[in-house]
Amino acid sequence: MVSPFDNAMKQLEKAASTMNLNRDIYAVLQQPKRVLTVSIPVQMDDGSIRVFTGFRSQYNDVLGPFKGGIRYHHDVSLDEVKALSFWMTMKCATVGLPLGGGKGGIIVNPKELSEGELERLSRGYVRQLYKYLGPTQDVPAPDVYTTPQIMAWMLDEYETLVGEKAPGMITGKPLVVGGSAGRGFSTAQGGVYCLREAAAKLGLVPEHTTIAVQGFGNAGSFMAKILSKAGYKIVAVSDSKGAIVSETMSGLDLTRVEEHKTFNGSVLNFPGTKQISNEELLELGVDILIPAALENVITEQNAPNIQAKLIVELANGPVTPEADVILHEKGILFVPDILANAGGVTVSYFEQVQNAMNYYWTEEEVLEKLEKIIVTAFHEIWEIKERYATDMRTAAFVHALERVGEGVKARGIV
Ligand code: NAD
Repeated sequence: MVSPFDNAMKQLEKAASTMNLNRDIYAVLQQPKRVLTVSIPVQMDDGSIRVFTGFRSQYNDVLGPFKGGIRYHHDVSLDEVKALSFWMTMKCATVGLPLGGGKGGIIVNPKELSEGELERLSRGYVRQLYKYLGPTQDVPAPDVYTTPQIMAWMLDEYETLVGEKAPGMITGKPLVVGGSAGRGFSTAQGGVYCLREAAAKLGLVPEHTTIAVQGFGNAGSFMAKILSKAGYKIVAVSDSKGAIVSETMSGLDLTRVEEHKTFNGSVLNFPGTKQISNEELLELGVDILIPAALENVITEQNAPNIQAKLIVELANGPVTPEADVILHEKGILFVPDILANAGGVTVSYFEQVQNAMNYYWTEEEVLEKLEKIIVTAFHEIWEIKERYATDMRTAAFVHALERVGEGVKARGIV
C-alpha cells in the first residue's frame, strides 16, 4: 500500500535538495503543526448510534490561516489527510495566497447515509473541532464527496456554537450564505488555464487535441465541459464504476454524458462508446490526460505505458514520485496538482475576501482575478523548471518552498 504522506515527503526531499533548502526550514516542514483525531457519534435513522472517525491536519500556517477541504470517503486515513494538508501548504504558497495548509476527512461512505444522517455527521464534525476552526485559524472547504450543502450545514453549526456570523470560516458555500460566484467550477477553470498555457508550449491546438479525463465529479466534469466548449476533443471519461471511450475517438457530447450519469448513476453504457477500465483509460493514445479522481493512479507500473504528451493533474497526488521520474525521462510534460488544481483554493480565498468585506464580485471579476494568478504562477514555475533543468512538480515545490521558507525565517521559527 503506497503511503501518500511518504510520497509527499519524497517530493519535498527532491525539491529541498534541488534548491539546497536550509536544513532547519526543511526539518520544520517535515511534519504537521497539529493533527486532530475525533470520534463523532451520529444517531442513524433507525435510532441506533454509529461512531465515525474524523481527522483534521493543520500542517503549516506561517503564511496565513490553515486552508483545505474535508473529504468523506471510506479510504480516508490520517496518512492521507496529512499528505493532503502538506500539499495544501505548497499549493497556497506556489500561487502566492496568504494562506497556510490544512485538510480534513471522515472515514465514511456518504452514499450509504440518508440526507439527515449526513447532516448530523457534518454538524458533529464541527462540534468536535470548532475551537480549532475559524476565519483567522483554519478554513475548510469541499473535497471528494463533500458539497456546498455540507459546507452550509457546517457553517450553520459553527455560527450557532460561537454565537456570531462568521461566513469566512468555510468556503465552497452556496451563494445565498456567502459563496463566491465561480467557486463551483473554479478548480476546473484553473486547470483549463494551465492546460491552455502548457498546450501552447507543446504546440497543441484544440481542434486536433484528444483528451481523456479520469473522474467525472466536480473537478473532472467541469473541466471536460469547459475544454469541450473550447474545441478540444474529450474522447474518454470515467467514474468509480469504470470508464468509457468514444468508439470513433471523436469528442463526446458531455452535456449528454452528464445527463446519462444523472439518470443512470454512472457514465457507463453511454451510446457510441466502449467500456474500458479506469486503468486502461490512463494508457489510451490521447494527447492529454487529466487525472481528476484519486491519488496514486500513475505509478512505476503503468507510467511506462502512458502515451499522452501532457498530464494535467486535477486530482491531488495522482502520480507517485517513482512515476514522476519515468514520465520526465519519457519527455511527458506534467502540470502538478499544486498548480493545476489551485483554482479551487484561489477562488476559496476570494470567497473569504468577499465575506470579510461583505461585498460580492461578479463571476467575470472573479475569473479575471483567477486567470491572472494562475497564469502568472504557471510562467514563474516554468521559468524555475528551466533554470534548474527539472520537472514542473519540483519547480512548483521550489517556488512554494522559497515563500514558506521566507515566512518561517521572518517569524523567527528558525
Ligand atoms: P467528486 O466527489 O466531485 O468526484 C470524484 C469523482 O471520482 C467521481 O466521479 C467518482 O465517481 C470518481 N471516482 C471515485 N473513485 C474512483 C476510482 N477508484 N477510479 C476512478 N474514478 C473514481 O470530487 P472532486 O471534488 O471532483 O475531487 C476530485 C479530485 O480533485 C480529488 O483528488 C480532489 O482532492 C481534487 N480537488 C478537488 C477540488 C475541488 O474544488 N472540488 C479542488 C482541488 C483538488
